Amino acid sequence: NADIAMYRAKERGRNNYCFYGPEMDHHARRRLTIESELRHALANGELEVHYQPQVHLATGALTGAEALVRWRHPQRGLLLPGEFIAVAEDTGLIVPLGEQVLHAACRQSRRWREAGRPDLKVAVNLSGLQFRRRDLVEQVCTILAETGASAAQLELEITESVAMADADGSAATLASLRRQGISLAIDDFGTGYSSLSYLKRFPIDTLKIDRSFIQGIPADGDDTAIVQAIIAMARSLRLSLLAEGVETRAQHEFLLAHGCSSGQGFLFGRPMPAEVFYHLIPCAVAAG
Ligand code: C2E
Ligand code: MG
Ligand code: MG
Ligand code: MG
Repeated sequence: NADIAMYRAKERGRNNYCFYGPEMDHHARRRLTIESELRHALANGELEVHYQPQVHLATGALTGAEALVRWRHPQRGLLLPGEFIAVAEDTGLIVPLGEQVLHAACRQSRRWREAGRPDLKVAVNLSGLQFRRRDLVEQVCTILAETGASAAQLELEITESVAMADADGSAATLASLRRQGISLAIDDFGTGYSSLSYLKRFPIDTLKIDRSFIQGIPADGDDTAIVQAIIAMARSLRLSLLAEGVETRAQHEFLLAHGCSSGQGFLFGRPMPAEVFYHLIPCAVAAG
């Protein structure tokens, strides 16, 4: 029956649409529509990048922003990645999409530098398809050169599962990105159920603790224990930490008290258009 089919489809994960009967038709058609509209969007500049502040928890100082793609759809308004990233990944459109996002993010980081803030980093998400491309490092270097951005201001985020899909290949790619001076972060850390030994092998700078663990602190005992364990581990491996999805003062205080240095979340700011973010940046020159 339809409910079970739907449940099974969900269980297979967001990248697999496996509906049966008339449902399948409906979803297949919908995906085709998204795919062709997305091609059009990529060619017509309908994609935008928004920037979500990242802060130093002890001082509240801005340390950078994560670049997050949005689609200014001509009929449907501003769409979040949840509405189109899975289709982009399945169709390979994530590659040109990711390139546009990287371009836009690098242009912004150059602007921040020119405003006197070379310390601000921009974090860009890489999908598995992008990360596994043979010419990734070359492509990133080309974009840095074209935009005049500095590698020291760029951080690339991959998930544990992307990193682990081909551990040897990943170690090599990460090492050559690192040699360029680019920082590397593991996104959604703690959700990938992979062996932790890769942390030793990969030249990672930062672990981003997944929002699902932050949600439960300080009330939920399990989340509290997990977050404390991640903090202790990161400290002994000398990795930087950033908590994702910080929404409350209680979460902020807990993280601060337990030694997590950085955070990102609605408490500090939602993802916002480049212009709005730019005006948030206190200029280092003006500040003396
Ligand atoms: P992510 O990389 O883990 O990004 C963080 C997500 O958490 C963002 O959702 C952000 O808006 C949301 N978020 C941040 N703080 C809070 C909070 O305090 N509370 C809650 N409830 N949510 C918070 P968004 O922008 O919808 O992006 C979702 C995912 O889409 C991203 O998760 C990332 O996996 C993917 N994505 C976004 N932009 C890109 C991109 O340019 N390329 C690729 N490959 N993936 C992207
Ligand atoms: Mg991310
Ligand atoms: Mg994340
Ligand atoms: Mg996440």
